[in-house]
Amino acid sequence: MNVFEAVRAANISAKDAAERYAGAVFTQKGRRHWACCPLHREKTASFCVSGDGRWHCFGSCSAGGDATAFAAAYFGVSPLEAAKLLARDFGVEYSQHRDDPKAANKRRKKQGTYGVFEGWLAESRRALEGRLEQIDYAAQNFAPASPDEEADERFVQALICREQVEYMADTLAAGSIGDKLSLFREDVKRKVVQKYAEQNTAG
Ligand SMILES: [Zn+2]
Repeated sequence: MNVFEAVRAANISAKDAAERYAGAVFTQKGRRHWACCPLHREKTASFCVSGDGRWHCFGSCSAGGDATAFAAAYFGVSPLEAAKLLARDFGVEYSQHRDDPKAANKRRKKQGTYGVFEGWLAESRRALEGRLEQIDYAAQNFAPASPDEEADERFVQALICREQVEYMADTLAAGSIGDKLSLFREDVKRKVVQKYAEQNTAG
């Protein structure tokens, strides 16, 4: 298991990471936990962690992700460095050795491209469902009481995010295979770029 897989398997939530690293204080509302965002200065709690342990900031940074993404943003390090920090601080053991490229290739071939795509599809649908839940919650709970009232930043953010997240969720649930594949390719491209940036900032 590499460090990313080990950290994921340990179920460290973004709440755990924010409490430990930033001293964030959370208030529970239903299945969600809210705190003032450790990534920017604010007086109202915009930092939301849902039941699956992922966070989203409905404030000015409007970022989100898992515990590793939080640690990376908080410390300004690469995802790899962030995962290593989490592993160290939460006592997670992982294999120090890099995956043997030949073995990884073999595994990938065995799984087949379609298997990779299916796995991505299931994971993305779960993640988007969690996001939509957070967005709906913010849209309902931070809506202005009257049109004259100044809108809460969290409400505005929810409206902005919803359209895109809904489009992606709908496409993955009921879109054509071509549309799904094009989202898959975009995501792969984004990850390759991220990995490249990571390699160039590492060490
Ligand atoms: Zn924020």
